[in-house]
Amino acid sequence: MENQSSNQIEPRMGRRLLLFPLPLQGHINPMMQLASILYSKGFSITIIHTNFNSPNRSNYPHFTFHFINENLSEGEKSASDIAAIVQLLNVRCVRPFHDCLVKLLSDVSEEPIVCLISDAICHFTHAVANELKLRRMVLRTGGATSLHVFSTFPLLKEKEYLPVRDSQLEEPVVELPPLRVKDLPVSKTSDPEDLYQVVVEMVNGTKASSGVILNTFEDLEQPSLAILRQAFGIPVFPIGPFHKRFPASSSSLLTQDESCISWLDKQEPRSVIYVSFGSIAAVNESEFLEISWGLANCKQPFLWVVRPGSTSRSDWLETMPKEFLEALDIRGHIAKWAPQQEVLAHPAVVAFWTHNGWNSTLESICEGVPMICMPCFTDQRVNAKYVSDVWGVGVQLEKLEREEIERTINGLMLETKGEKLRSRILHLKEKATQCLRQGGSSYQSLESLVTHILSSELFTKHTK
Ligand code: UDP
Repeated sequence: MENQSSNQIEPRMGRRLLLFPLPLQGHINPMMQLASILYSKGFSITIIHTNFNSPNRSNYPHFTFHFINENLSEGEKSASDIAAIVQLLNVRCVRPFHDCLVKLLSDVSEEPIVCLISDAICHFTHAVANELKLRRMVLRTGGATSLHVFSTFPLLKEKEYLPVRDSQLEEPVVELPPLRVKDLPVSKTSDPEDLYQVVVEMVNGTKASSGVILNTFEDLEQPSLAILRQAFGIPVFPIGPFHKRFPASSSSLLTQDESCISWLDKQEPRSVIYVSFGSIAAVNESEFLEISWGLANCKQPFLWVVRPGSTSRSDWLETMPKEFLEALDIRGHIAKWAPQQEVLAHPAVVAFWTHNGWNSTLESICEGVPMICMPCFTDQRVNAKYVSDVWGVGVQLEKLEREEIERTINGLMLETKGEKLRSRILHLKEKATQCLRQGGSSYQSLESLVTHILSSELFTKHTK
């Protein structure tokens, strides 16, 4: 992984930060990357984490770790309703998190704690930090645009875009161009009111914080960043892309299958379609078959991540269509979990069929790999719309059907459209590289963040 000049480790300054990730892969990665970035700026780092999905401590010997018991049952942890898990975490973590902070704040053997940085979705941390007079900032792990869209939920409800109705999906959201109703960041949940509450609390908890850190950069999301600065009234620090300073591999909860890279080494340059839908999204059996047939028919080499739990079948290989298995022998490779950043940076990869999780979207932009977008839920829908219609660096897969898959992949490979997408994404890749260099927007924003954390306003309350 390319290390930027700003990555040098600066001397310890005797100030400690507490970081608290939401225990989901797409949130743990950026929080651990942020921890490494702030460590490199001289802060000491304590990670508070849940038992559920706890990060691998041995990859971070220079950090201190404290765990809290979130008291989720096995059934609650494995539920597919993410909004429900998030709601539960925001209730069950309150007491153990509070007790953990009390212990840490009274420990005089450690450096003074200057700030808590919590995932924005863990909105309960606001009340706890307030009670203990600990200054709190938040990390929002999604993009600036989706945060802006989330902040309009009360308006969207008032105007009856929410809850989303199937009959309205194609209608434009006139207040948020170019979004249509189907691009709004919602998800299937047992109770849409749960999701609404999580979003409203996340936004309110962010507005009440001492500042929000974003894994994005000015040249990518300038208009949305400007809106956030005005509407939220707190400092906004776009210091991304984080993963170009510190890779996500060390915070991976699943083992990355390195055979992906040796397989890619044997493929022609710019020939392979990389297919992965992240750590949560799942497809049903008929969708799984459409993907298999689509990949078998399109005649391009492919690398497909089939995560355990991402389909309802565990014996999928035995039931695969014969044509798919033949394609698998000749030009396909399947992995349970890939070293995604390395895969995207590999010269053999030509396109990324993605669910448009924010990390995957940024990682694809940073490697200049055009996307085939298949958003599943929440902010993925906003990200996909921006990838296809605003940045023009990908195409949306309109239907999850084999003919449509074949047509979309072949269109990207063979036609001038693919070239246009490539040239635009290479331009964004260059901007992503520049913003991290000395004097670049993210470089400067990181300097401002360090100053902000150390500013007297933040500092006086928590030094011993
Ligand atoms: N990832 C990975 N290997 C895989 C698939 C994903 O390491 O096979 C990483 C990916 O690089 C990204 C994260 O998992 O950093 C997924 O985050 P994202 O926001 O894209 O999606 P989510 O999993 O939250 O839906």
